[in-house]
Amino acid sequence: MRYFLFILILPLLSYCNTSDTNRSSTDKIAAKTKKKTVEKAPQKIEYKDIDKAHLLGHIKASEDTLFMEIPVPVANREGLYIQKEVLKAFRKMRNAAKKDGIHLKIISAYRSFNYQKWIWDSKFDGRKNSGNRNMRNSYPDPRKRVEAILNYSAMPGTSRHHWGTDIDINSVSTAYFESPQGNKVYEWLTKNAQKHEFCQTYTAGREDGYNEEHWHWSYIPLAKHYYYNFGKKISYEDISGFKGSKFAKELNVIQRFVINNINTECIKSH
Ligand SMILES: [Zn+2]
Repeated sequence: MRYFLFILILPLLSYCNTSDTNRSSTDKIAAKTKKKTVEKAPQKIEYKDIDKAHLLGHIKASEDTLFMEIPVPVANREGLYIQKEVLKAFRKMRNAAKKDGIHLKIISAYRSFNYQKWIWDSKFDGRKNSGNRNMRNSYPDPRKRVEAILNYSAMPGTSRHHWGTDIDINSVSTAYFESPQGNKVYEWLTKNAQKHEFCQTYTAGREDGYNEEHWHWSYIPLAKHYYYNFGKKISYEDISGFKGSKFAKELNVIQRFVINNINTECIKSH
């Protein structure tokens, strides 16, 4: 019966556009129909379309109109770039923290694919330590080495730092966040960051994915669009061109480190 009525209403809606007298009654019917639709339809999020270059860090932030350099002392050094929208939100959070005697500083922001490749390859080759260990010596088997590096570092192409929506705050050392000073900062963030629409991406107690990172925070209103686009557009062909990349697919890196095992607060719509 309901469908029958709807079929009757549809031609009426298009027909009535010609007459003023009819328009008011049509509007009422349309309003009723619309109300019903709104009540029934599940919440629909309109996602922005993000191109692959912006998802994989294949852009030059200093030349990209979405990005700007973070001024010192908001950042701890020159040459760090972030999306303008994220910087605006971070400044507000930073000012609020300052009023409570907490000092927040960005120590890492946008990273290009090539920069992440440099970090990754250096760890793979043993030129740079990972978690205080020389990975090449500790893990002669390359697949096991890739797995070990993944506890601390993202494979090039899969880092949320490529998006310009994520930042590291104050220190990338767990010891700092366990010290009295760092603990105060972390407590403030866990209590207040959500008000400013930031979330801690890699929390404690997840079964898989990266180790806990007290320092890594995402700006949800923007990051959720990148997250959604990444899941839709990125395949293992895009995750290549660095040492050990042939293990990406068999280790299910996209699912385990980008799509799953992140704080669910970070993918909620607001
Ligand atoms: Zn980070």
